[in-house]
Amino acid sequence: MCDGGVVKILVVEDDPAIAESLAVGLGRHGFEAEVVHDGTSALHQADGCDLVLLDLGLPDLDGSEVCRRLRERSNTPIIVLSARSNELDRVVLLDTGADDYVVKPFGLRELIARIRAVIRRSGTGVPDHRLDLGPLVVDLRSHEVSVDGTPIEVTPKEFDLLAHLASNPGAALNRRSILEEVWDVNWYGSPKTLDVHVASLRRKLGHPEWIQAVRGVGFKLVVDATAGPADEPDGA
Ligand code: CA
Repeated sequence: MCDGGVVKILVVEDDPAIAESLAVGLGRHGFEAEVVHDGTSALHQADGCDLVLLDLGLPDLDGSEVCRRLRERSNTPIIVLSARSNELDRVVLLDTGADDYVVKPFGLRELIARIRAVIRRSGTGVPDHRLDLGPLVVDLRSHEVSVDGTPIEVTPKEFDLLAHLASNPGAALNRRSILEEVWDVNWYGSPKTLDVHVASLRRKLGHPEWIQAVRGVGFKLVVDATAGPADEPDGA
């Protein structure tokens, strides 16, 4: 969903001035905004987006109808922008599948906070929950690991170790700090435990070269994003 960790927001707003200022404001906060001015275009453009900001008063379709149709086919979060503020509208809207509702006029700061909250709740397209290193994806929320789209079973400790390495791709992490981070500060077990877990992860990921030993330091994760799928195990 999220190319390069940028959250892409579809702004559906027929008022060009509001649409433009929203796009600029979203851009300033690190979001990528795409603007459409009517409901039909919204239905065409929504699929590639991580979140939809949807004005209710559109020239062709009613915003609540757009909302309902979008919800029928995807879980992409929808925040409705509306001048209608009474409680009934709110209930009706949330019924059509909107995730939240912002009443016009609103401040950009409030809108950004709502967007962040909805994205956090939805668990979709959230860069800080999903470490995407090309062929290797580590999902910090679901604790799932995949290589080339294939789920990999790892133990909880292996997951913590991989998540730590994947949070600092390319960085040489020293053994002491890895042990403290992944096991815990008061952990006095054998340092060999780390090597055992590294060996196991290398085997499970099918790319032993991704977790590199750094002499005199510890380990670093280097995922070659251009590499193809792993070779078949040679069975030897
Ligand atoms: Ca409007």
